Amino acid sequence: MYKFYARTRQYVFSKALTLIPTREPQLIRGNGTLLQIPELLQKQGTQRLLVVTSPGFIKRGTLQTLFDRLHHAGIQYTVYSRVKPDPTIGCIEEALDEYHQKACQAILAIGGGSVIDCAKVVGARVARPEKSVHQMTGMLKVRAQLPTIIAVPTTAGTGSEVTAGAVITDETNHYKHTVVDLCLVPQYAILDPSLTLTLPKDITAATAMDALTHAVEAYINRFAPKKAKQCAKEAVRLIIQNVTTAYEDGQNIEAREHLLLGSYYAGIAITNAYVGYVHAIAHAVGGLYGVTHGVANAVILPNVLEHYGASCAREIGELADAIHLGGSNDHEKMKRFIHALRFFNEQMNLPERLDVIKKVDIPELTRRALKEANPTYPVPAIWGEKQIAEVLRTL
Ligand code: NAD
Repeated sequence: MYKFYARTRQYVFSKALTLIPTREPQLIRGNGTLLQIPELLQKQGTQRLLVVTSPGFIKRGTLQTLFDRLHHAGIQYTVYSRVKPDPTIGCIEEALDEYHQKACQAILAIGGGSVIDCAKVVGARVARPEKSVHQMTGMLKVRAQLPTIIAVPTTAGTGSEVTAGAVITDETNHYKHTVVDLCLVPQYAILDPSLTLTLPKDITAATAMDALTHAVEAYINRFAPKKAKQCAKEAVRLIIQNVTTAYEDGQNIEAREHLLLGSYYAGIAITNAYVGYVHAIAHAVGGLYGVTHGVANAVILPNVLEHYGASCAREIGELADAIHLGGSNDHEKMKRFIHALRFFNEQMNLPERLDVIKKVDIPELTRRALKEANPTYPVPAIWGEKQIAEVLRTL
C-alpha cells in the first residue's frame, strides 16, 4: 500500500514538474569567462555585490584580477570567505549579515558546492527573512524571487550552479538539510575551467564521482523525463572519458572543461529527475561523521546498484552502452558498469569502504536516509529499513 502511495505521489510530482516552467541559468563557459562578470553586473545595474567564497581563493590571490575589474567598473563589493565545506546555518547567517550591512543587491558565489549552496540559501533568507533555514527545508518552501545569483563552480561535482537544491548542515545536531525550490536556480552559471586547475587530486576524484552519481541516479529513476535522461547520459560519457585524465594531470584544461560540463549536465538531470538512495545514505553518513560527500557517494554508488539488481538493469545497461563497455545482456552490462565504478575508485585512491560507520548508528542512519528519500525520490525500487540497513552494513 505504501509503495502504491509513493509511486502515485512521485508520478504526480513528475508530471507537475513538467508543467512548472523550469528555470535554467544563463550559461557562460570557457577559459577566462570569470572576467566577464563586472560587465554582466554593470548591464544589470548592480552597484553593490556580496562575493561568497572559501578562504583558499583569497589566500591564493586567484580573484584579485576580478576584484580589480569590479573596482574599475564602479561596483562595490564585500567578501564573505568563511564558508566551510558542508556549509552550516551559522555561515548562512554571517553572510546574510554582511549582505544587509553593505546593502548588497546581488550575490556572486565562487567556489565548490558548499559556497554555491551557502549563497543560494543566503539569497532565500534575503527574499524570505521571516523564514528560518529549518522552515525552508524540504520541497518548495521558499517560493519567492531571490536576488540575482551568479554561480561560478570551482569543483566539477555538485552541479549546484544549475540545480534547484542546496544542502545545509545544522551544526547543533550534524543534520544535513536539503532546501529544494526552483527559485534557488542561479540566474547565471559561469563555467571557467581555469578555476578548477588548483583542485587537488583527492577533491578532483571525489567531486567527479559525486557528479557521476547524480547522472546515474537521475538516469535510473522512474518517470525521468527525456531531457533529464539525455543530460544524464551525456554527463556519464563526459565524466567517465575525462575523470582519470584530470586526476592524473590536473593542468589538462580540456579534461577540466569537460568535467565541468559533465557536472553541469548532471545538475540539470537531477533537477528534473531527482537523486536516490545513494544520496540519501551519503547525506546521512556525511552529516553524522563528516565524510566528504563525493567520497561517500563514490563508495555507496556501486553497492546500492548491486542491491537494486534487476530493477534498473536495463537503464544501467544503456549507460554501459554509452561508454562502450560491451556485454551481451543487461545483467552482464550492469556487472561491467559496477566493475568500472570500482575500478575508477581504485585508480583514484578512493576508499572501498566507509570504515567510520558504527554498527550502533545504523538505525539512526537508516532513519535519516529514509526520511530524506521516501516517498519523494522516484528510485527504481522502493526500500524500507531492512534494505537500507543491509547496504549500510556492506559499507
Ligand atoms: P566543497 O565545496 O565542500 O569544497 C571542498 C574543498 O575544496 C573545500 O575545502 C574548498 O575550499 C576546496 N576547493 C574548492 N574549489 C577548489 C579549487 N578550485 N582549488 C582548490 N581547492 C578548492 O566541495 P563540493 O563537493 O563542491 O561541494 C560539497 C557540498 O555540496 C556538500 O555540502 C554537498 O552536500 C553539497 N551538494 C549540493 C548539491 C546541490 O545541488 N546543491 C548537490 C550535491 C552536493
